[in-house]
Amino acid sequence: MNAEIIAIGSELLTPYRQDTNSLYLTEKLNQLGVEVVFKTVVGDNRRRLVSAARQALSRADILIFMGGLGPTEDDLTREAVAEALDLELHRDPEILAQLEKRFARRKMKMSPNNEKQADILFGATVLPNANGTAPGQWLSGKYDSKEKIIMLLPGPPHELKALFEEQCLERLRAKLPEQFIATRTLKVAMMPESQCDARVAPIYKRYPDIQTTILAGAGEIQLHLRTRADSLEAAQQRVDKLAGEIEDELDDSVFSSNGESLEQIVSYFLQMRNLTLAVAESCTGGMLAERITSISGSSRYFVGGAIVYSNELKTQFSGVPADLIAKHGAVSGEVAIAMAEGIRERCHANLGLAITGVAGPTGGTDEKPVGLVFHALAGDGKTDVVEAAFPETANESAGSPRNKRSTW
Ligand code: ATP
Repeated sequence: MNAEIIAIGSELLTPYRQDTNSLYLTEKLNQLGVEVVFKTVVGDNRRRLVSAARQALSRADILIFMGGLGPTEDDLTREAVAEALDLELHRDPEILAQLEKRFARRKMKMSPNNEKQADILFGATVLPNANGTAPGQWLSGKYDSKEKIIMLLPGPPHELKALFEEQCLERLRAKLPEQFIATRTLKVAMMPESQCDARVAPIYKRYPDIQTTILAGAGEIQLHLRTRADSLEAAQQRVDKLAGEIEDELDDSVFSSNGESLEQIVSYFLQMRNLTLAVAESCTGGMLAERITSISGSSRYFVGGAIVYSNELKTQFSGVPADLIAKHGAVSGEVAIAMAEGIRERCHANLGLAITGVAGPTGGTDEKPVGLVFHALAGDGKTDVVEAAFPETANESAGSPRNKRSTW
């Protein structure tokens, strides 16, 4: 079975609100083996809504409408779906009573327009909404001789999620053939997307039964592998085999082989090796420490550090000799090394990590263009430095195609 998600609300057609519910629903549906084939966003307009509902009925098996179940004039989902399905709406006295009670509990008077929230499609099952006034609705049956499942869910994300999880998932599972899905997510760094795809495409093309999706994000490329089989073991073995071949090809550019974030991997290795870390950051202005400390338990290995934006503080807090900065410039391998070694020593950590670069958008020169960044890692008696040339627009490529790696 495939699905269409229809997000309803004029605000979702403005630059101020985004339809995020469909991302959540797509993930849940995919886990059940249901592919989302269309997503539609419609404003609060009855004619357009009816048309979107009819179109969805003609091309998908599962239809999920979300939003527009509120009490106001522009909440039209119930009426529009009823019209598209040619079904009557009836006012459910039990829901009406529950709505009244809900208002009474809050010592509020229910306004008459709330009553329409008790309007139910003929034949639909009511899905009580513990977190809001708009109940959901579930309808399954034949439409134009084809089996359809139709859900009406409230728009606020916390209401939708709770309602879907508690009341729709099992109902949906019961309607679907039993199947097992296995997924793997690999994450790759320091490589442009095009290069990554050129290297892995010949491999994943040998596995037509596995859906492979390549996504370029900030600083990383994600490879999502997904397949279904008659048993979970068979599905897992299949994706693991492809993941293994991709890892062999990309070698240590793959930093995560099970969807872990970079900071989780850093946490894992530091703890495994019983090492502590301190940072000195210039152009990242604290973002490095922020990511490291976003991991629960990071105090076991992260001791702290300094944001050394100015040259003075590079000297004062991370011990970079002022003449070294004068000679090579603040954005240089030499200064990065001195920052890493200085912060390591001052913070009594096993490792010192430093970043200095030209973040832009202004301030670049021919010799030191925007995007030039030096990273240095100081350990016991050894310091490595990496020079990277990131593209000017962060979104241009996740893997920084102009990268140059070197060890000082
Ligand atoms: P309620 O009666 O609780 O308002 P409703 O079903 O009428 O429920 P809407 O009025 O359509 O819901 O939406 C309420 C809020 O939920 C919107 O202002 C918006 O912030 C959020 N919302 C609606 N649809 C989505 C969506 N698809 N993705 C993310 N947020 C959404």
